Amino acid sequence: MLEDIRQISNPLVRAITSGLFLSSLVTIPASAAIFLVNFKNESAYKFIFYASIASATVGAVGGLASGKSKSEVTERPIVETTGGMDWKDWRKFVIDRKVKESDSITSFYLKPLDGGTIPNFTPGQFLTIQLDIPEQSRPVIRTYSLSDYSRSSTYYRLSIKREPTPPDTIAPAGIASNFMHDHVHEGSVILVKPPAGKFVLDVNSSQPAVLISNGVGITPMISMAKAVSLLNPQRHIWFLHGARDGSLHAFRDEVNAIAVSNPNLHIVYCYSRPNLTDEGNYQHKGYVDVDLIKNVVAPEMQNFYGSTDAEYFLCGSPSFMDSLRDGLREWGVADNKVLFESFAKAKPKKSEPAQDPSQEHDSIEIVFGKSGKTLSWSPNDGTILEFAEANDIYPDHSCRIGVCGTCMCKISEGEVEYAQAPTASVDGDSVLICISKPKTARLVLDI
Ligand SMILES: Cc1cc2nc3c(=O)[nH]c(=O)nc-3n(C[C@H](O)[C@H](O)[C@H](O)COP(=O)(O)OP(=O)(O)OC[C@H]3O[C@@H](n4cnc5c(N)ncnc54)[C@H](O)[C@@H]3O)c2cc1C
Repeated sequence: MLEDIRQISNPLVRAITSGLFLSSLVTIPASAAIFLVNFKNESAYKFIFYASIASATVGAVGGLASGKSKSEVTERPIVETTGGMDWKDWRKFVIDRKVKESDSITSFYLKPLDGGTIPNFTPGQFLTIQLDIPEQSRPVIRTYSLSDYSRSSTYYRLSIKREPTPPDTIAPAGIASNFMHDHVHEGSVILVKPPAGKFVLDVNSSQPAVLISNGVGITPMISMAKAVSLLNPQRHIWFLHGARDGSLHAFRDEVNAIAVSNPNLHIVYCYSRPNLTDEGNYQHKGYVDVDLIKNVVAPEMQNFYGSTDAEYFLCGSPSFMDSLRDGLREWGVADNKVLFESFAKAKPKKSEPAQDPSQEHDSIEIVFGKSGKTLSWSPNDGTILEFAEANDIYPDHSCRIGVCGTCMCKISEGEVEYAQAPTASVDGDSVLICISKPKTARLVLDI
């Protein structure tokens, strides 16, 4: 009961509850005793009266002081599954191994703390993790692609790039990635949601696939290349990866090893500024671009497969992806043959001009049901998530680009307009607030 009272976040409610609880602890047994022994004694009733007031006061003061400190508070209930396939919400995973892959990328091998089974995943999917970082006022939620693959998963691997302070700014370094590199070690426990995401490769297809990445965008590509090599090795895969030099090229040996066992995996590494020691470790000096695909990949594909009809998977920095998407479109590759995942906010496609849904309404009202706030939104307020944060409402979120689905919330009135089509699956009665703005004059959200 005392622990339940400590969980009450409102100090007034906590003080009243605690006062009533302690007062009843004193008053009820004392009244019963007096009633049984001498129920006509007036001074005994006076004693009960003063004792109940005193105990209520002590209880209220104690209740006031016993609230959980900020660092102890977990902002959302942690639904811990006992393991197995019923896993839907946060589940504790222990870091089983931590392996440095390059100067900037480190892998974390995760196993469920409860010792239960974990579901297989489709190559290209990601995990959402939650970190309790001491100097952060709220748990930090981020998404990371699964970078390994096996027929039957017994662990998950995430490979995380340390995000340094951006050059020429005083902006802070990346919160979660630096915490993972510096403070999460073998034996540490983090919270994890089940695999999700729609940037996935159909392993059974026979069409060639071109996996194109730079930097840490290589993570889902390894999973895809491994899955195809294990389950459908006849399928031709071109693995194109760009790095500045060998020191920043993670997983080279691992991908080379897959290619040794699978001759249908064709590797093209491009180093933009190779070191002398990188000689022999890369195929091209420069960047991965559409000319490389036209001049190197397409003739090979024609040779091996008899056609250049392929599926393209892109993951990397926003400028890299923008230029490849534009280049592939200009070369005549249909948009539905190009799947991409952005780890950072990408510019909207040229064919999708940003819309201003507010033009039709004089004023727009958003009701944040759980927070008890009704606020007036205007176009300068940005997305619903940005607007909420500006008004001290902090919904769960992670990617801010409609990919991870963490910010999905129920909508009971009104409609939203998306700046770009969500990549995450969105339930029928819900919306992704990180990429949407109000479309109707009134919205009622379950936040
Ligand atoms: C589907 C998906 C899969 C992903 N998979 C991977 C993966 O496999 N591996 C991986 O490493 N990452 C992956 N990411 C990216 C990852 O989720 C995080 O976004 C990344 O690790 C950065 O998080 P952070 O907390 O370290 O940085 P944040 O604290 O979120 O900061 C992000 C960047 O902004 C900069 N910054 C912070 N504040 C400011 C400011 N005020 N002004 C200017 N700049 C600022 C930081 O220095 C940093 O470079 C994935 C993302 C998505 C959406």
